[in-house]
Amino acid sequence: MQFRDLKSQYRALKEEMDAAIEVVLDSSDYIAGDQIDELERDLADYIGVRNCVSCGNGTDALVLALKAWGVGSGDAVFAPDHTFFSSAESAAFVGATPVFADVSEDTFTIDPESLTRVIEAVALEGKLKPRAIVVVDLFGLPADYERIREIADRYGLYILEDCAQGFGGVYHGKQAGSFGDISTTSFFPAKPLGCYGDGGAVFTDNDEWAALIRSMRVHGKGSSKYDNVRIGMNSRLDTIQAAVLQVKLKAFQEYELEDVNKVAARYTEVLRDCVKVPLVPEGYYSSWASYNILLKDEAQRDAVRVYLQENGVPTMIYYPKGLHQQKVFEEVCRYGESLAVTTDICKRTLAIPVSPYLSGEDQDRIIRLIREKTGADA
Ligand SMILES: *Cc1c(COP(=O)(O)O)cnc(C)c1O
Repeated sequence: MQFRDLKSQYRALKEEMDAAIEVVLDSSDYIAGDQIDELERDLADYIGVRNCVSCGNGTDALVLALKAWGVGSGDAVFAPDHTFFSSAESAAFVGATPVFADVSEDTFTIDPESLTRVIEAVALEGKLKPRAIVVVDLFGLPADYERIREIADRYGLYILEDCAQGFGGVYHGKQAGSFGDISTTSFFPAKPLGCYGDGGAVFTDNDEWAALIRSMRVHGKGSSKYDNVRIGMNSRLDTIQAAVLQVKLKAFQEYELEDVNKVAARYTEVLRDCVKVPLVPEGYYSSWASYNILLKDEAQRDAVRVYLQENGVPTMIYYPKGLHQQKVFEEVCRYGESLAVTTDICKRTLAIPVSPYLSGEDQDRIIRLIREKTGADA
C-alpha cells in the first residue's frame, strides 16, 4: 500500500498523460511552451482570480510574493506554528522575522485569537514592523478567512495564503487560493494537485504584483530576457510539468476531488468513536491533502503507528514538531504565546493513507487495524 497512491493515478491517466508529455518532447519547447500559458489561464479560472503565475515550486512562490511586497529585514511575518517549514522559512529567507501563532485543535488552522495576541505583542514591543500573515490551508482545509481578513484589515497586514495543501478546498463558495492578497500553491507530487517533479504557482487579483512576480521569476527580466531591470531568480515551471498538470487538473475537477472526499467521509464516519477525527466546519470543503487523526497520547499514537506499519500500512506524522521547536527558529521570540496546542498535536497526530485511488479493501483494513489497536471494539 502506498501512503499517497500516485501509481494508481498514473495507471488511470497513463494514455492521456503519455500523449501530453510526448507533445512536449516533439515540440522540444521544454521551457515556456504554450502549455504554460494555457495552464496559467485554466488555473486562474478555476481559482477565480485575475492572475496565475507559475513558478519552480511552492516555496519560491511564497518568496516571490513576499518579495513583491518588499517584505524584508525589520519586518514581522506571522505564521501558524503547525505547518510545513516553508510557510515561515520563506519569510526568514527574505530577511524578515517569522512570528508564530497557535492553531485550533479541531481544524489545525491558525487560531485567530492567538494570532491577534502575537500581532498586538509585536506592535507593543515596537521593534518589528508587522507586514503580513502567512495563512495556511493545512491538510486541505481553508482557514477561517472571515476572521483573519478582519484581523488583517484592523492591523493593516497583507494576507499571504499558503494554499500548497489547500488547492481544491472551498470556503463559503470561494476557492482556496483566492483568499490571500497573494496566494500560492505547490505542485509537489503528493499535494492535492501535483506534477511529476517540482512546481508551484502564485495567484493574485493585483495586476501590478503579478507583473512584478513574472519579472522576478526570470532574473528580473524587463522587455526581454536580456534586459534585466531588477534582481530576480530562476524559478520557472517547465513545460513537461505544465502538460502533466493539464491532464491532472481535468481528472482533479472531474472526479478526484469528489472521490477523495468520499474516502475521507468514510474515515470520519467510522473512526469518530475511537479517535479524534478532523473537523470540517459548516461552510467548508476540504481537498484532503492528508487525513490526520489525533490519538489519546503519544504512547497510543506510536503504538497505532507501529501496528499499522507491521501490517503493511504506511503512515506519516504531520508534523513531529512545531516550527518554534525547529532549531533555526529557537531564537525567534515567542511573544508570550505558549503554542501549547501545536506542541500537543505534534505528539498525538497520525496521518493515514488517503487519496482518490485508495481502494475500499485497503480502507477497510486501515479502519479495522485502527479500531483494533485503540480497543474500540473490545
Ligand atoms: C509543500 C508545502 C510548501 C512548499 O512547497 P514546495 O513546492 O515543496 O516548495 C509550502 N507550504 C506548505 C504548507 C506545504 O505543504
